[in-house]
Amino acid sequence: MLKEISLEGKTALITGGATGIGYAIAEQMYDAGADVVIAGRRAEVLKEAADRLGERCRWYPFDVTRTEEYDRLLDAIEEKGPVDILVNNAGINIKKDYFDFTPEEFDRIVATQAKAPFLLSQAVAARMKERKSGGSILFISSLASILGMHEIQAYTVCKSGVKGLARSLARDLGPYGIRVNSLNPGFVYTDMLAKTNVKTPERLKEIEERTPMRGFTQTKDLGMAAAFLASDAARFITGIDLVVDGGISSSFLI
Ligand code: NDP
Repeated sequence: MLKEISLEGKTALITGGATGIGYAIAEQMYDAGADVVIAGRRAEVLKEAADRLGERCRWYPFDVTRTEEYDRLLDAIEEKGPVDILVNNAGINIKKDYFDFTPEEFDRIVATQAKAPFLLSQAVAARMKERKSGGSILFISSLASILGMHEIQAYTVCKSGVKGLARSLARDLGPYGIRVNSLNPGFVYTDMLAKTNVKTPERLKEIEERTPMRGFTQTKDLGMAAAFLASDAARFITGIDLVVDGGISSSFLI
């Protein structure tokens, strides 16, 4: 096996790591040898996920919008060793007509999907810089940063934002050995997608047929891509948006 793909000896912090894409990322990183730390708001969901993952997984009930508590969280995690990999995965979405969107709803999406990834990355990168260890930071972008999508404008602002932020931070953190990339999932059938985007069998079929590889991106596809990007096999990859969408965004189907 390619030895650089191993994450042995590294610790990965994955926000929203108990469910959906975040869980699959935690699972693949765990399988690649990393110690994983998952954080989210629901303790029972985290505990269940951590039990499934195994003894190298720790969990912290934590709301990523509580930006003033990042140092407390990181101090607690880093008692057992430094965070080498950060995956800013926690997310929410609200799908509704643009003209009905309220400032409060906009702020709610931005707090979770843009402000938290910005400031948590800053807190983690400051520690990586201080100890001169290097590291890897990942954001989760979206097809909404490539294609105009129906009724998810606030989400689109954030996802386009973190994609750009990955490039900008790759520029500024590269000299410290910190790589920053975004992962772009395509359509993945998780709780979030079921709630916001794909509510009818017809819509499901439409998406499947619109995808050159047919079907949906599987959470494991993202997990594997994230584990690769975080590993030394990707040691010179920074500032990219890795699209895992079965070809939707690169093709025109009629
Ligand atoms: P899920 O709803 O399964 O996952 C979202 C996770 O984020 C949950 O574990 C949730 O846990 C956590 N979370 C939400 N808000 C907070 C918060 N304030 N603090 C801490 N944790 C929080 O959906 P997905 O797996 O689909 O989403 C994961 C990421 O992938 C999101 O960023 C999403 O935008 C992105 N994405 C998803 C796509 C898809 O097709 N599914 C496509 C493109 C991007 P809890 O509620 O316990 O806090």
